[in-house]
Amino acid sequence: MLGLMQNQPLMISSLIEHANRHHGEGEIVSRRVEGDIHRCTYKDIAARSRQVAHAMDGLKLAFGDRVATLAWNGYRHLELYFGVSGTGRVLHTLNPRLHPDQIAWIANHAQDQVLCFDMTFLPIIKAIHGKATTIRHFIALCDADKLPSDTGIAGLTSYEAWIAPHPATYAWPEFDENTASSMCYTSGTTGNPKAALYSHRSTILHAFAGSMPDALNMSARDSVLPVVPMFHVNAWGLPYAAAMTGAKLVFPGPAMDGKSIFELIEGEKVSFAAGVPTVWQMMLAHMQAGKLRFSTLRRTVIGGSACPPAMITAFNDDYGVEVLHAWGMTEMSPVGTVCTLKNKHLALSPDDKMKVRLKQGRGLYGVDMKIVDPDGRELPWDGKSFGDLLVKGPWIISDYFNSEAGSPLVDGWFPTGDVATIDSDGYMQITDRSKDVIKSGGEWISSIDVENIAVAHPAVAMAACIGIRHPKWDERPIIAVVKKPGAEVTREDLLAFYEGKIAKWQVPDDVVFVDAIPLGGTGKMQKTKLREILKDYVLPGA
Ligand code: AMP
Repeated sequence: MLGLMQNQPLMISSLIEHANRHHGEGEIVSRRVEGDIHRCTYKDIAARSRQVAHAMDGLKLAFGDRVATLAWNGYRHLELYFGVSGTGRVLHTLNPRLHPDQIAWIANHAQDQVLCFDMTFLPIIKAIHGKATTIRHFIALCDADKLPSDTGIAGLTSYEAWIAPHPATYAWPEFDENTASSMCYTSGTTGNPKAALYSHRSTILHAFAGSMPDALNMSARDSVLPVVPMFHVNAWGLPYAAAMTGAKLVFPGPAMDGKSIFELIEGEKVSFAAGVPTVWQMMLAHMQAGKLRFSTLRRTVIGGSACPPAMITAFNDDYGVEVLHAWGMTEMSPVGTVCTLKNKHLALSPDDKMKVRLKQGRGLYGVDMKIVDPDGRELPWDGKSFGDLLVKGPWIISDYFNSEAGSPLVDGWFPTGDVATIDSDGYMQITDRSKDVIKSGGEWISSIDVENIAVAHPAVAMAACIGIRHPKWDERPIIAVVKKPGAEVTREDLLAFYEGKIAKWQVPDDVVFVDAIPLGGTGKMQKTKLREILKDYVLPGA
């Protein structure tokens, strides 16, 4: 017997309509690429999202077509979040920090039809124009009078001129909630970038779960600053959760430096902020230098990389801000665990509380976790046994978009590439990473890409790229190189060889010449051994 409940599909358009009706006056504040502060309300965003929807229909896009963005966090990007997905097209947030060749590769793989971009990224657009062959429409996120005439991009339109003729009313279509809504590529694994393809259902369930008190604790009383970019897993889902709960949204635009972020927090009475450790490192340094204090910030969610203990202590003890240490992945929408205490922990000493807080946290309802040994046998939740971490749940991918490799799932579980312990209270702690990648300032660097370039140099016989701890960027890559017999190459030559081949920040910080790179029985480079050999190595300038 079926229940007698209304079977209403979970639609992303319903989020903005809810915010419009219940929180119409709620503010959306954005620092723009122009440098000024722009203010509008959920009512404005709703009206303009409907105009976007009409404009989208006007482009004669098919249901499910991909509409890409190359944009900072801001109100126009938010309108595209609702206007694109709401009409059944798929919002594809491109990462502008990648090399233009990689962006073009990703746009082609996704078969993007439209690209909406902030004017700051015009040089990237010029570089990929002609290479990203499926894009039929380029739209600049600016006023008509800010559009330069000499871009060389045929048919380039300004966003404001594009949406202006359209009415602010729109009948959002209702369709299967499992329909794709947005996508995000990750370079966090070996090989070419791969896309997580989110659905309306997964996005809304994730927003529900993410808003709960023991998750991000979002409410209509919050003023939320997502420093995490909207091109990184939909800014950790915060734009959706904010519309769902009616929280004020504050967008930093391109200004991520400590001073700008601090000013925005104070100026907009931000109560809750979200970002990777590197951003907070810069902000804390700015505050310490100027002996500054927060007047409204109450909590901050830190994830993307392990949060250093000193950062949790500084926020908590020096500034009275609660740190929510969180873990997740692009493939998980992204939130998997958040570290909040249980009732039994409240009586613990500050030191013992800290031991709990350092962990990546407990799984949200909806995220199931297990750790397994190399033979796939499940390991106990004793806080000591560590193994490969696998996850399962309704906002975790079942496959990558258009991937040739087949589903990554193992018996229905997604292997995260992280190595972890889980204690008897369900707190997960990452101890290592089995995937061969480096994470610098929250962005991935493929060690394989770095090695492939080095071995393309005529004097290099073998090269291995590893990550070295860095106080600001968390990790930075270095390359260990074995020269060909009789061949010569200097550190400077090799570093210069990277120019133009990968993004500047992906170029290794140093070259270490070695006699040999340790190899395993199957001829695979043994990076753990290499790390041991280089354990006393210090990065230049660190
Ligand atoms: P991304 O898909 O770019 O969000 O990266 C996901 C990966 O970042 C995870 O699989 C982890 O390796 C790493 N990561 C994310 N959050 C944390 C955290 N709190 N502590 C340690 N590593 C993390």
